[in-house]
Formats: sequence, structure tokens, C-alpha cells
Amino acid sequence: MKRFAGDWIQIRTEYLETCGLPLYLNAIAGEDGIVLLDSGVAATPEASISGELAAAGLRVEDIALVVNSHAHPDHMGGNANLRRLADPEFAAPAAEAAWLEDNDLVIRELWEPNPDAYLLDDAERADLYGLFGDRVRVDRLLRDGDTIVAGGTPLTVITTSGHSPGHIAMHDPQRGVLFTFDDVQGAGTPVAHSDVWLPPLYHDVERYLAGLRRLAAADFELLVPAHGDHLDRAAGLARIEESIAFVERAGDFVAGYVARHGETRLGPLAHALGTELGPYDGVNLQTMSVAKAHLDQLVRRGALTPVWRHAPGPA
Ligand SMILES: [Zn+2]
Repeated sequence: MKRFAGDWIQIRTEYLETCGLPLYLNAIAGEDGIVLLDSGVAATPEASISGELAAAGLRVEDIALVVNSHAHPDHMGGNANLRRLADPEFAAPAAEAAWLEDNDLVIRELWEPNPDAYLLDDAERADLYGLFGDRVRVDRLLRDGDTIVAGGTPLTVITTSGHSPGHIAMHDPQRGVLFTFDDVQGAGTPVAHSDVWLPPLYHDVERYLAGLRRLAAADFELLVPAHGDHLDRAAGLARIEESIAFVERAGDFVAGYVARHGETRLGPLAHALGTELGPYDGVNLQTMSVAKAHLDQLVRRGALTPVWRHAPGPA
């Protein structure tokens, strides 16, 4: 636990030990209760949130509002357990409400939209359901420009639509803080005790870039990501530039691959991206999505033609 600016507390979670990535949540305490930005995975409320709040002299039962930045399990998996502990309201991006309320839907649409190229195995699927936990209904649907009040001051929603289709950042002009959650990804994040990096994840090249440019234009002194340390303004802007540079590098890689191969299939392209562009562990949700995003971009520019094929087997 770290205390910033009096009422703003950063919660260190167990995610580094269980899943190999640092994960920080943020809590802002005020007279109307605590606003918690993201809820971790299903285990996080009891493993980390209760104890970290207690260390700051706060009570988990006083969480009045949980804001989920997007529908990935490490940002909303704790919702149901927080409801048991504190019964807060839940606010989340309107664009991802359906995913936030339905684990089967988010797994099918996010992990397995191209089942001929990539499907989870049974163990991965079971792990994922464990991280997601039970779902709760979203009470407040957030859209770009909406505000929530935390610790007596307004935070503004910036829809970035980058790392996930409805991803939001929260801008706190009073404290000079930009909570970017997972949107500013650089060239990825090293996974602890391994040789691999978690690759950047995005689904639409132009939307991701536009979101990053909006974040760069925001007035902030501190950029606060979920999976790493706070960055001052200069370092935050540099990290945004690094994120944009990765997209350019991935775009060049995909264009070069397509030029060499002519006919391109998604699975082999994702594998090449996940092994040649960086130590990104081959085919996974991230490399599949980034490969697809850049293919879509080439299709939109008229440089590629998509082809549908009949796959023999059960219809
Ligand atoms: Zn995420």
C-alpha cells in the first residue's frame, strides 16, 4: 500500500505472485465512501484489497463505488466478491457491459473469435473462469466525457477504445493524475520468472492510436498504469510514444509478412508476430488480436482481400 495526495491510495495486489505481472488498483477515499478503480481477479478482494485498505486505516465495507476500466478478468474479476464484502455500486464502460456481465460471451468473442486459428485448452479455460469469478450487473454505464466524484473531486472518463474495444482511462485534473489502466502498453510487459513478455493487445489500429493521442493531449503530472509504476509527465509521454512506435513496428512487420507470403492465414501470422517481433510466446490472445487488427487495416486500405473458406466438418 502507498498513500498519495492524502486520500488516494495505491493497492498492491497478489497478481504478481499468482500470474507473474504486477497489478495495482487505486482507491480514493472521501466522505461518501471509497471509490475503487478496478477490482482485480476473483481472489483479489480477500487476498489484497481488504488488507491493503486496513493498512491505510480504511474499511473494505466502505467501498461505495467500483469503476471497472475494461472487461478483462484482472480488472473486473473481483466484482462479485466485493459485492459480498461491501455491496458497492458498479460503473463500467457502456461499450463492454455485455462482456462484464457474461463470462461465456467475453471468452467466445475476445479469446475465440477465430476458432480455426486459436482455441483455449481445457486448463486455460478453467483458469480463466477462476479469475473471472461470478458476474454482477453494471449499475452505471460510462461514456466518454462522463464524470464520477471521488474524494470530493470529479474524475472524467476518456474512452480510449484501444487495449480493449471500450477501454476507458480516468482523468483526475485536480490531482494531476491520468489513470490509464492497460491502455499505454509500450512494447509489452516482461512476465516475472520467465523469458517471455506479455505483448501489447489491441483490436483496431486507428482506434488504439487515436486513444493514445488523446491521452498524450491530456493535462497530467502523473501517468498511472495498472501493471507498472507511476510515471512522471515526461516518462508518461515517452511511454505513450513507445506504444505508438510499437504499432508502427507491428504494422511494418505484418505488411512485410503479407508481401512475402501473398496468401496469409491468421494463425501462422500470429505465430510469426509472437516469435519474431519480440519474445511474445507465439500464438495467444494478444498476438492473434494484433495480427487481425493489422490485417483489417490493410483490407481497409485496399491492400488485401479477405477470403472465406468452407471448413469441412460439423456445420
Ligand atoms: Zn487488460
